Amino acid sequence: MTDGDRKFDVLIVGAGPGGCCAGIVAARGGLRVAMFERGEFSGNKIVMGNLIKTTILKDIIPDLEEKAPLGRFIRSRRYACLSEETSVSIDITSRKYNEPPHNNLWTLTRKEFDPWLAGKAEEEGVKYFNKTPVESLIKKDSQVIGVKTGKGDFFADITIIAAGANSKLVRQMGEHIEYPPDSYILGIKEVIKFPPETINERFGLTGREGCAIDYYGYPIEGNVGSAFIYTNQDSLSVGAVFNAGSLKGAVRNAPIKHLQLLKIHPAVKRLIQGGKTIALSAHIVPEIGFDYLRSLYCDGALVVGDAAGFLNANMYPLGMLMATASGKFAAETAIEAKKTGNYSSKTLSLYMEKIDYSFFLNDMRKYNRSPYFSNHYPEFFKIYPEMAIELMENYHLNDEESARYKQQNLFRKIRDELTIFPFLRELLESKRKFRF
Ligand SMILES: Cc1cc2nc3c(=O)[nH]c(=O)nc-3n(C[C@H](O)[C@H](O)[C@H](O)COP(=O)(O)OP(=O)(O)OC[C@H]3O[C@@H](n4cnc5c(N)ncnc54)[C@H](O)[C@@H]3O)c2cc1C
Repeated sequence: MTDGDRKFDVLIVGAGPGGCCAGIVAARGGLRVAMFERGEFSGNKIVMGNLIKTTILKDIIPDLEEKAPLGRFIRSRRYACLSEETSVSIDITSRKYNEPPHNNLWTLTRKEFDPWLAGKAEEEGVKYFNKTPVESLIKKDSQVIGVKTGKGDFFADITIIAAGANSKLVRQMGEHIEYPPDSYILGIKEVIKFPPETINERFGLTGREGCAIDYYGYPIEGNVGSAFIYTNQDSLSVGAVFNAGSLKGAVRNAPIKHLQLLKIHPAVKRLIQGGKTIALSAHIVPEIGFDYLRSLYCDGALVVGDAAGFLNANMYPLGMLMATASGKFAAETAIEAKKTGNYSSKTLSLYMEKIDYSFFLNDMRKYNRSPYFSNHYPEFFKIYPEMAIELMENYHLNDEESARYKQQNLFRKIRDELTIFPFLRELLESKRKFRF
């Protein structure tokens, strides 16, 4: 490889959705781009629920839904509260979701989707190096001028770090912020294989219709978090996401235990029985909120997606969307910088302006304090859901009691057990305190 082969306009570290979108947009803008992926292929070891909101990606790849290896569109969103033996749920199903553009919400398998997206970047002219971990940034004074890899050093005017959560490269940009210990979330996911017909039959679906169910309460045992089942084409993603801080030390076995409690629940067991487990993975990521967003650019470098901290459990089905959007903004910033020939942090601050005007920073601001809210008011994750389930269950019990008596009983129980005024006071107080 000659020196010329090692010099690009833009280097991208990581070929996940953030990196690939940055690559596609930058290459289309006429820049010479190299993208490095440490894995044999990207998406190999990613832990996620598998829902993708396609809006930004469709701006970049208009025929995405026809061409990409997507699974099913989400026809039905269900939210269920579980106690040990009971389930109370609401199901949102709409004709609108069933018709194109299908509410822009699909399932996917990252093992298939990420290599496809990396292929799209290559089609646009991005030079893609897989099995090439980036070891460190190369800096000259405060300016990032390239990266060190096992295949030698590469140089560029701008480096885009798209290496996912917990990337040590971000620290090398300069500033480092220590996150509070209760700001980490743990995720675990099992993929269970079924014939598509079995999935359709069990979830009441036809063709490419899909269903996403989020579960609260029992499986997470009062910790802050939720569980999920999402239907892929011929498999189910079954998993749990919860705050590591709320476990109070019992972290080691918690993910598998929560997953197990979900799987043996009567309302869940019948959906997943008889399938073959084909993957089991776990991941820990910081859920830092807007206050902890670090500087997203420095002289010669920009950081996008999970590496930048664009992840929040309340918004986790938006992680890929935020990664793709930030990748696009970073590439647009690189294109503008190239026109001026200036790659200082002042020029690259355009990236922050783009993000500031985008949809997702508003959402991150809105949910900024939600991790802290969740940790301060654990009753919202145990006592209140359990109470709601018990009330609903008893009210619908067909026994000898009259409807009138049941109604009175229901109000009495709410009055006695929910202690409505403290509850409302707590809710208002927390809303003010945590600005959610
Ligand atoms: C439990 C859980 C469930 C989730 N569910 C959803 C969901 O349903 N929908 C959704 O949209 N989001 C979900 N997310 C979030 C989503 O997974 C991320 O937001 C998204 O993957 C971020 O994309 P990214 O490109 O920033 O990083 P990643 O997807 O993490 O990609 C980073 C890439 O960089 C590579 N890499 C890392 N370091 C290096 C290096 N030094 N050199 C070279 N390559 C490197 C990695 O191998 C990887 O391929 C979930 C997250 C968790 C934890």
